[in-house]
Amino acid sequence: MRFGKILNGEELVDFIENLNCSNCKKTVPGGMKTGKSFYKTKEFEEQLTLFKENYLCGVCRDQKRIKSLD
Ligand SMILES: [Zn+2]
Repeated sequence: MRFGKILNGEELVDFIENLNCSNCKKTVPGGMKTGKSFYKTKEFEEQLTLFKENYLCGVCRDQKRIKSLD
């Protein structure tokens, strides 16, 4: 998935993060892409931390979607 800031036509950096679902705690290895100039900056680290704290796996995301339709 694409993450963070990617400038127009910028070279992308691929990286893998172990994401823990914030609901069921399942670990999901996530293949991520971001812009080369954004990768490993302070802002990048901050956004990644926030993203990981709020991450939901596919199953939990589906459950949330179903619930919100009730
Ligand atoms: Zn989950």
